[in-house]
Amino acid sequence: MAFQTHQFPYGDDNYGLLLHCTESNLTACVDAGDAAAAEAALAETGWQLSHIFITHHHGDHTAGLTELKQRHGATVLGPVIDSAASTLYDIRLGDGDHFEFAGRQIDVISTPGHTLDMLNFYIASEVHGLHR
Ligand SMILES: [Zn+2]
Repeated sequence: MAFQTHQFPYGDDNYGLLLHCTESNLTACVDAGDAAAAEAALAETGWQLSHIFITHHHGDHTAGLTELKQRHGATVLGPVIDSAASTLYDIRLGDGDHFEFAGRQIDVISTPGHTLDMLNFYIASEVHGLHR
């Protein structure tokens, strides 16, 4: 079954994304730039935060990380390259790594450019859903 998703705006020009698995009841938030916005999205969906995937270290993607991690006990996965935020990462990821979340493999693709530590998360099992 495909992940349920919930995209929410925050700040001037950012979006956060919740990924939720109804079978495992796990929920990941992609980036943590605004804890209040993420909490509102969680309250709206009723999902319980279990994981946080960080794409890169910039403050508008990590400023809410300490608060969200502490409040929910979420497991944080983020780039292997050191940054102020990286001390909060439980699992460090680099290009070509993959990990399992809610029974799906997630492939990690490094795309340095915006920042040296920029990661993308590719979920092959979800791609077919885009073409239905
Ligand atoms: Zn940035």
